[in-house]
Amino acid sequence: MTEQAKYTKELSKLLFHSSNILCICHINPDGDAIGSLLALYHYLESKGIRAEMLSPNNLQEFLKWMDGVEKINIYTNDRKKCRKLIQDADLIVMFDFNHSDRLGEAEKYVLDSKAIKVIIDHHLDSQNFTDLLISDITKSSTSELIYEIIQEVNGEKFLTKPFAEAVYVGIITDTGNFEHGAYSGNTFRILAGMFDFGIERDRIFNLVYNNFSSDRLRLRGLALDRRMVVLSEYNTAYIYLTKADLAQYNYKKGDTEGFVNMPLSIKGIVFTALFVEKEGFVKLSFRSKGSFSVNDFAKTHFKGGGHLNAAGGDHYDTLENTIEFFRKVLSTDFPKKSELDK
Ligand code: 5GP
Ligand code: MN
Repeated sequence: MTEQAKYTKELSKLLFHSSNILCICHINPDGDAIGSLLALYHYLESKGIRAEMLSPNNLQEFLKWMDGVEKINIYTNDRKKCRKLIQDADLIVMFDFNHSDRLGEAEKYVLDSKAIKVIIDHHLDSQNFTDLLISDITKSSTSELIYEIIQEVNGEKFLTKPFAEAVYVGIITDTGNFEHGAYSGNTFRILAGMFDFGIERDRIFNLVYNNFSSDRLRLRGLALDRRMVVLSEYNTAYIYLTKADLAQYNYKKGDTEGFVNMPLSIKGIVFTALFVEKEGFVKLSFRSKGSFSVNDFAKTHFKGGGHLNAAGGDHYDTLENTIEFFRKVLSTDFPKKSELDK
């Protein structure tokens, strides 16, 4: 029996023998967090198994069209109800993260809960804080992994429209619509089944990528024209956005998604960072091309993490100090041009 089959059997037992299942994704959920969460929810619902869903905070605008999102409880919108959901759960299944601090304010309640805890994930360096950890870093997305797990749990092919759309959104968003990330032949075999099934590829693409405000496009213009700094000596470029920038362009959650990837299109740039000023902290995103591990960089300097080529973190300081600190560690840590893979 493969490792995955063993875990799947264990998970299957838990899903079919628990009475209060709670599914939780990570804070600032991306398309994969919501996709994998909804995928399991839709599967359980089709089997007549009731489950609750919880997100530590609000969803990005471009995910709000997805089937079932209205049933996701948002911790920061109704703390009392969400704490009760956590306390009442006898099984908590968590999606798309590797460390308990990704639960935000819900962390301590989840850690204190007596429920059996499961993580389904594809990030590096998983923290072992659950009873069952199902993690496969070779998958494009947690959604790809949950697709496979559900096929195995179900014993025969399972594909419905809401389920397929949830998995599809997870796969396209974690690969930037197949621009980067760990997609493989396996990913495309799953997608082939979905296309045969009749998934509306163009409709979903437009809902995810062509559904923003004109302000968002102008914010992107500002980011590239006035807020991008290229450090060619370090093959690095970064973009920063202040709170005032965000306010000026009527920022909505999700508007800066993808900005961090843009400077990677510059010849010679292999490492990019995005700094977004928030209330009391700075949200960080890192991307790289090639062997430079932004996971290690984020972990070492910013208590963050993620994947080899895509990682993030939060830094509790001013924007100015954060950028200064970044530039300092870059000058000591990051290999200069001459030492990099070309
Ligand atoms: P993004 O830059 O798109 O927010 O995140 C890139 C990757 O890093 C994602 O896989 C995300 O889950 C992970 N990530 C983002 N922020 C954090 C963080 O604060 N801590 C950890 N451990 N991972 C993060
Ligand atoms: Mn993911």
